[in-house]
Order: sequence, then C-alpha cells, then structure tokens
Amino acid sequence: MKVLFQDLQKHNDRFSPHFQQCLSEVLDEGWFLHGKFTQSFEKAFAAYCEVKYCVGVANGLDALTLIFLAKKDLEKWEDHDEVILPAHSFVASAQAVVLSGLRPVFVDIDEKDFLLDVSLIEDKITSRTRAIMPVHLYGKCCDMVEIGRIAEKYNLFILEDAAQAHGAFYEKKEGHLSSSTSKRVGSWGGAAAFSFYPGKNLGALGDGGAVVSHDEKLINRVRILANYGAPQKYAHDYLGRNSRLDELQAAFLLTKLKFLDKDNQRRQQIALRYITEIKNPSIILPYSAEKEASRQSVFHIFPILCRERELLQSYLHERGIFTQIHYPLPLHRQRCLLPYVRSRGSFPNAEKTALQEVSLPIGAVMEEDEVEYVIHNLNAFRL
Ligand SMILES: *Cc1c(COP(=O)(O)O)cnc(C)c1O
Repeated sequence: MKVLFQDLQKHNDRFSPHFQQCLSEVLDEGWFLHGKFTQSFEKAFAAYCEVKYCVGVANGLDALTLIFLAKKDLEKWEDHDEVILPAHSFVASAQAVVLSGLRPVFVDIDEKDFLLDVSLIEDKITSRTRAIMPVHLYGKCCDMVEIGRIAEKYNLFILEDAAQAHGAFYEKKEGHLSSSTSKRVGSWGGAAAFSFYPGKNLGALGDGGAVVSHDEKLINRVRILANYGAPQKYAHDYLGRNSRLDELQAAFLLTKLKFLDKDNQRRQQIALRYITEIKNPSIILPYSAEKEASRQSVFHIFPILCRERELLQSYLHERGIFTQIHYPLPLHRQRCLLPYVRSRGSFPNAEKTALQEVSLPIGAVMEEDEVEYVIHNLNAFRL
C-alpha cells in the first residue's frame, strides 16, 4: 500500500465540477481583481470565523505583515518594538515581524502540545513589548484565555497566526461553573491572519490569504495598505503594497469553505484513531486526553516525536508511508533571524521538537484502510 503524506490531487478532484463552474462564472464576469467573488468570500469567511470583518490578501505572510504595519501606523508603534512569539513555527511568523520593522522575542513551546508556553510569556515582557503572536500550530488553538489575560494586564495587542487552524475552536470550562467559553480561532485576538496555501485545511489553487478582525479601523487600514496605500483611487496617503486575493481564487475558496467543517471532522476522526490506537513506547503522541477535552484541533498536521526520527521515517517509507517534518530548524536558529536572537539556546522544547518531530499522513480524503495501515506499521516499529 502507498500512503501519501497528503493527497492534494484527490482532495481537489472532489471539487472539480465546481471549479469548472467557478472558472466560467469568473470568465463571464470578465473582472479578475477586487470584484464580487472576493467580496462574497470575505463576507462568508468573516461569518465563518465569527468576526465582523475580513480582507482577502495575496498570502499568509502578507496577512501577518499587513496587520503589523497597520497597527504600527495606527498606534504609533516604533521600529524595534517587540512582538512575543513561539520559537517553533513556520518561518513566516517571524519574518512578518521583522519585515514590519518590529523585533521578534521568542518563547519556548509547551513540551506536550508544541504551542507557545503561556507560563513563559510574562518574563519576556518589556516596556517595548507591543504584541503577542500565538501561532495555532498544527491546527490547534493556543490557550487564548490565558493569553488574553496577559495581554489585558500589559495592554498588548494579540495577533493570531491562524494559518494552520481554519475552523478550530478554543473552549474553556469556567471552573466549577457549568458555563464555558467556546470561540473560533481568529475571533479571540485583535486580528488574525490566515493562509490559503494549497495544502492548508482551506486551500486555494494557488496563493491566497486573509486578515480577519472585529476592529473596523484596523481592517480599513489593512485594506488600504494592501492596495498601494490608497483610500481612494490615485490618492496614496500611505506607502502600501499590492496584495490581493484574486477573483478566481476567491470563487474556488467560496466553494471549498462549504466543505471545511466536514473535512475538519474527518481529520479529527483520523487523529482520534491515531491517539487511541498508536501504542509504541518509542513514539510519543502529542496530546493528553485531558487537554484534548478542552481544546479542539483541526489537525492540519498530526505530529509525533521519535528519538530515532530518521530510522522511523525510512522504516515507514520502505512500507510506502510518506511522512514529513514540521519543522527541522527552530526559528532562533534560522540564519535570517540570528541577529534578533538575544539569548540563544534557551528553548529546550523547541530544540527537541525540531530534532524529533515526524508528521504522519492525515487529510480529509484519507481512507480508513490507510489509517489502519499507518497505525499497524507504527505499532510494529522497533528501535
Ligand atoms: C503557511 C503558514 C504561513 C504563511 O502562509 P503563506 O500563505 O504561505 O504565506 C504563516 N504561518 C504559518 C504558521 C503557516 O503555516
């Protein structure tokens, strides 16, 4: 049997007739940028994320960067003001900070779920700290209640990097009270950035991204900055950039959005089987059952840890099972970020994850016998 890490072809084949329809509708319209499909998608995606506003942009990196640039303008943040973010993420999270003229301040991740360790945040706050950037890595929402508490205490902005977590919820039970808070990723912070890179849970057939927020002023500024800094045609009040979600991608995304919850549910089913059925002392699973009860992941990635990663990967590969690594180098060791790292080597969990992480195959179109095959082979693996 051959189990791909992610079968994008099969994933998108399901929508093929819809995509053809989208193409002919956009062609009929004869209008390719800033048109009615983008508008409809923005509206639908804002509603999906339970926020008031959404702006479609060219990609996830732009979404992150435009939020920072808008905030900097509006709040008079200065160059080298600081943003707190995890040391373990895709490089875009940190590049957006630096490209906005801000300074990344890394914190280590939690050993068990690989997300920003909230207990380490307060130690990193200085008079120059302006924002916290939780990354909902692998599809799982960070502890937004605690991050919200810290942000409020120190008057910090929260930018959610939700590029891997379309549709995830964060739920918090309120102690002995039976009430609970349950909100979608993207609706917790001051703003959130999404990516529609083809492989993401909601993926375009090319690049795409979005900024979502409750804050009208911020959203307006993002929209202006994404359009050459022009509030009105040919009146360029700001130095902006050109960052657009095009009509065709918006039409594709509008179609796929309708299937997102169902696709995410399928990923969760697979993840649940992995969590309950993989039993091998050489393999560490990411999620404790107790934590899983209060936080939902949409499992963009299913990460495991193995001390002998190369052996495990080649063992699986010999059996036709394809895996990946997310990510082999922590942010504080990326060459482009070295000038911004103050204390090197104090991120033990990020280091360990970078050395030991293996991403198992997962996806909305993965078949039950494929899941079975992966579990069977993992359980038979011996170091
Ligand atoms: C994919 C991703 C991005 C960037 O998205 P692009 O659309 O590729 O620019 C940012 N942050 C994280 C965590 C991502 O996974």
